[in-house]
Amino acid sequence: MTIRIGVDLDTTLNELEITWLERYNADYNDCLTVENMIDWDVSAYVKPECGYKVYDYLDEPGFFRNLGIKPGAREGMQFLWEHFEVYIVSAAHPNTVADKWGWIQEHLPFIPYEHFIALSRKDLLKLDYLIDDGPHNIEQFSGTGIVFDMPYNRHLPDRYLRFSYWRDITDYFARLVANQPK
Ligand SMILES: [Mg+2]
Repeated sequence: MTIRIGVDLDTTLNELEITWLERYNADYNDCLTVENMIDWDVSAYVKPECGYKVYDYLDEPGFFRNLGIKPGAREGMQFLWEHFEVYIVSAAHPNTVADKWGWIQEHLPFIPYEHFIALSRKDLLKLDYLIDDGPHNIEQFSGTGIVFDMPYNRHLPDRYLRFSYWRDITDYFARLVANQPK
């Protein structure tokens, strides 16, 4: 049986949160860290003079193209790609799709474009697993949700699998492969 895995892009594969905070801290003379990201809505904890303007960074051409990649993410995705049917699923504004695809081509060149899906309603896809940091995506998903740990998703119940590092995600699926009937 083919197992289909959906993998989120922002903050799960790329380091959106790092660059986003760096840009905001520099422009607004603040010192927020990832541990301060206790709410999915970033405007909730930035300085009032920034507020919703914090989302303007995401509209800059090239912003999503130049993000870092999570340690172990390339190796993990290579393993998943070799053993499962894998899709990168990202709630991407149409203006950002080319940058996101350019990033995937650079960092995960073995993923063909047919396996990159720009979609907000990830629950509509027939996936067995979804690896995601977005609490709403995990809660709406009817398959096995795997939470990529961030402060803003720690309120999710323990029934979801939770990992902080790609090497642990890779280990989890490696055990699944090892236990599959031959
Ligand atoms: Mg995400």
